[in-house]
This record gives sequence, structure tokens and C-alpha cells, in this order.
Amino acid sequence: MPELPEVETIARGLDKRVTGDAIDSVWIGSRRQPLKSPAAEIATTLAGKRIVRVQRAGKHIVFDLERGPVPNSQTIAKKSALRKAADKGPTLAKAQWIVHLGMTGRMVVTDPPAEVAKHTHLIAKLASGRELRFIDPRMFGKLSVHASGFDPGGVEPLEVGEEQFLTLFGGRKTPIKSALLNQKLLRGVGNIYADESLFRAGIRPRRRAASLTRENLRRLYRSVQEVLREAIALGGSSISDYVDADGEEGFFQLQHRVYGREGEPCLVCRTPVKRVVLGGRSSHYCPKCQK
Ligand SMILES: [Zn+2]
Repeated sequence: MPELPEVETIARGLDKRVTGDAIDSVWIGSRRQPLKSPAAEIATTLAGKRIVRVQRAGKHIVFDLERGPVPNSQTIAKKSALRKAADKGPTLAKAQWIVHLGMTGRMVVTDPPAEVAKHTHLIAKLASGRELRFIDPRMFGKLSVHASGFDPGGVEPLEVGEEQFLTLFGGRKTPIKSALLNQKLLRGVGNIYADESLFRAGIRPRRRAASLTRENLRRLYRSVQEVLREAIALGGSSISDYVDADGEEGFFQLQHRVYGREGEPCLVCRTPVKRVVLGGRSSHYCPKCQK
């Protein structure tokens, strides 16, 4: 399942490839599961729009769209015209296309248009002749459109300040691991990077957030930043694997120190890594390095 660094990598790859291009037309498959907005609304919102930017918000990919050419202030100077435009909702000049990859979703840019893969749910034909496709075998991914200002909630983990981090997590009665996964606090930190951050910070996943000292929390803050940035740096070199049509390789992986290493020796002290289930999710930790 793509986590924040993977989504960041994919968003950057898409931004590099399709920003400046325009969406001529849209085909949407008959499966309704991946659609969070009605198919017709997605199609009318996307068609005829220029892609201004692709970025990540939490674990979502956000396409900023504009009708081109952009209407200048004089053409919509009158209030009535503005209201008219607003009534049209997401089909007006600016809009956002939000893609959540779920477990198995992929965004692919095909150049030239290649054979349509199984489980393709959306094809956007681009003015350049290429196609942008959304493929998702398990259909936990989600597609939606918004007028603007999409807000997935929570604070961006790479933008949160140290004091804000301490305020968010300090005093909480839940296990720190659960708090890290709570998307209303930080958005985009998933199971793998939560385990890896806790290992680096020397904190057991089950520790109650309230029991952590300010110094513990500061260490955790730095670990979260470090782990996510390292993973993004790793992904930066392999962007093409994820958005090019022939890229079938798995996601790049940060060398996991604890995640998925149950029973294997800790890379620091050789103690076997433990796994516990916490809130329905596996948590991995070193019983000696983490307190
Ligand atoms: Zn250890």
C-alpha cells in the first residue's frame, strides 16, 4: 500500500510529465467502487481543463486544473457572471481532481497510448496525444473532483513544526503508534513509517503518548521527518517506475529496520524483532532498543 513517500514520488512524477498538458476527453469504466464523485461529474470537470500542477496532500494525489485559456478578471467582472460560474460548481474555471491510490491503485502515463490494461477505470486523453490512466485491481482507490481547496484534514507531517507536534501528541491517552496513524492528527503517516519512526526514536509502539517526555516526543518528531525524507529521496531516483506505462516494479523501499522483520535480529543489538497487534495493525519493535 503506497504511503506518504510513495504518493509524493508518484505526484512528483506526474507533475513532471503532465503539468501544462490539457485533458481533451475522459473515459470512465462501469465499475462504481472507485468513484467518490459521480462519473458524469468527474468527466465534465476534467474535460477541457489544463493541468496546472500535481501535488500530494496527505496520501492523496491532487491535480490542480484550470479551464484554458484562463478567464481574466474583466470577462467575469460582473457579479452575476461570477454567480453563474459558481452555480456550475466543480465544472467552473478552476477545479481539483483527487486521486487516492488505496491498496493497489496506479496512475500511468502512456506515450504512445498502449494497450489498455485490465482493471483500468479511467482514461484521460491528453492534448499531447498521450493518455493518463487510473488502474486499480482491488478498487480501494478513490477518484473525486472538488471545486478547489481540497483539505484531507490533519497536519502535513513534513510541514508540522516541533512545538505543534508536541501539542498534537503530548497528553494523549492512546498508544503512540495509534496516535501516529490517526489521520486527523498527522495526515499520511502509515503503518510502515510509524514503526520505523518509533524504532529510530527508541519508543515502543504501545507506550501511551501521555507517558512520553518532551524529549521523547522531540526525538520522535525528528525521526518521523528523517524517515519520510529518506524514503522520498530514495523514490526520487526511480520516479519513472511508477508513472510510466511499462513500470511494473514494486515500490522502492527504505531499508526497513523493524517493519516486517519479526523474529529477525535487530540491526542495532541483534535482539529478535517483536510483532504485536495494535488496533488491528501489526506493530514491529525491538524490545531492547525501544522503551
Ligand atoms: Zn535492538
